[in-house]
Amino acid sequence: MLGGMQDFELRVPRLLDHAAREHAKREIITRWADGRETRSDWAGIAHDSRRLAQALERLGLKPGDRVATLAMNHGSHLVAWYGTIGMGGVVHTINPRLFDEQLVYIANHAEDRVLIYDKLFQPIVDRLKPLWTSIEHYICFDRDGADGFDALLDAEDGQYAWFEGGEREPCMLCYTSGTTGNPKGVLYTHRSTLLHAMHAGSPSVMTLSSRTAILPIVPLFHAAAWGLCFAAPLAGSKMVFSQVNNADALCGLMNREKVTLASGVPTVWLALFQHIDATGELPETVEQITVGGSAAPRAMIARFLDMGIQVIHLWGMTETSPVATAASPPPGWEDMSRDEQLDMLQKQGSIPFGIELRVLDDDNAEQPRDGVSSGRLQVRGPWVVKRYFGAPEDAVDAEDWFDTGDVAVLHPDGTMQITDRAKDVIKSGGEWISSVDLENAAVGCAGVAEAAAIGIYHPKWDERPILLVVKKPGSEVTPAEINAHLENHVAKWWLPDEILFVDDLPHTATGKLLKTELRARFKDYRLAA
Ligand code: ADP
Repeated sequence: MLGGMQDFELRVPRLLDHAAREHAKREIITRWADGRETRSDWAGIAHDSRRLAQALERLGLKPGDRVATLAMNHGSHLVAWYGTIGMGGVVHTINPRLFDEQLVYIANHAEDRVLIYDKLFQPIVDRLKPLWTSIEHYICFDRDGADGFDALLDAEDGQYAWFEGGEREPCMLCYTSGTTGNPKGVLYTHRSTLLHAMHAGSPSVMTLSSRTAILPIVPLFHAAAWGLCFAAPLAGSKMVFSQVNNADALCGLMNREKVTLASGVPTVWLALFQHIDATGELPETVEQITVGGSAAPRAMIARFLDMGIQVIHLWGMTETSPVATAASPPPGWEDMSRDEQLDMLQKQGSIPFGIELRVLDDDNAEQPRDGVSSGRLQVRGPWVVKRYFGAPEDAVDAEDWFDTGDVAVLHPDGTMQITDRAKDVIKSGGEWISSVDLENAAVGCAGVAEAAAIGIYHPKWDERPILLVVKKPGSEVTPAEINAHLENHVAKWWLPDEILFVDDLPHTATGKLLKTELRARFKDYRLAA
């Protein structure tokens, strides 16, 4: 028996139609690399997206075809997403910070037919064009002239009806950053994207509404900018984009455009703090910061709370669209001490409807939610990957559980806490030391800009931690001072056997510590004692 209610396929263009109809004048602002600022609104983005859909069809693109972007954040990039998806295509965001070998691999693997790119990345295009085997059309976002993005749109009238299809058809392709082996493609569906947008903007996650003005500092090529470009039209929020990511430009932009919510990885906020310390300029209108991609350090959360800015701490991965859990103020928040509030926000948060989590030990036994038993974190839900693009087999077990590669603890209050990446935990005498906890404690020490903990071979304990530290400019901090600071935050047996100062630390294309390279670099290192 069927019920008696109306139905429509949960397709992404409906989000844009809604915004263009109900929030037509809510603005979309772009600050370009050359300092120019351009303004559009949801009605304008919808009109331009229809014109791009027409142009792509004119180029011969068919539903299901892949259109790649190699670009920073701006309104035209948003149009490229919606125009491609609107004609039934699949938008493939490429991370320009990947190595050449990976850039070649993913565009060929995705069989991209079109590449739309920023002038800034012209050298990448010139270098790799001979190696990209499927790209037929190259379009430059910010070039005047016949091969420019605007000229392409100007040739169309926007009289276009979105391609209609099923909600389980694909709309977007995102590759994981692939710290080992080749990157893997996650092929989002219209349905998974729309459900994720409803979840990401909801009150216990990013709390989006039509009064929110969002600055996604997270790049559009980083895990779909955490779903913000889909959640924003749903809520009717204003969006503010910047093609450049330096803190000076961003802070001024936030104040001019009265940004209320900004999102980015922890390194972005460290840069903002440095800007504030150097100039005294504060983001005056920001009410909420969302941070994710790596664990948010306690000192960072504390500084934002002291500034009167709420922190939302997100956990997820490309495979989870990407937002899965969120730490936001629970009931009783106002009555908590500052330390209790920080404890809460330092965890990766509570589990929303649509996401299920479990933790397994090495024998695959499910662990209790007791706040101490840690193990491999698995996830499932309608916006979690089932099979990587082009893979011969599913990436999940028979019950759809996906192994995240993270090590976590579930707490009795329903919150989840990541303790480490499975491959980064330091195994000392049969016990696990969390490299993340050590690093986060270390960056709370005055004079420490960044820190990485890795395990070094030890004849008795198997592995012992060493801590690699980048000092803040001008700092004279000593290993003894760092150790004294760490003693207040971690168990004594976790303290690093050695603390070494380095000039810089290697990062992945999404700004995370590249532990594989650090481990390779220190492979033959022997502890002095
Ligand atoms: P990204 O595109 O963000 O690099 P990946 O899928 O490569 O996404 O990385 C996802 C991984 O990032 C997670 O499995 C986890 O290890 C880490 N991560 C993301 N958010 C957090 C967080 N809030 N705390 C700790 N680790 C996180």
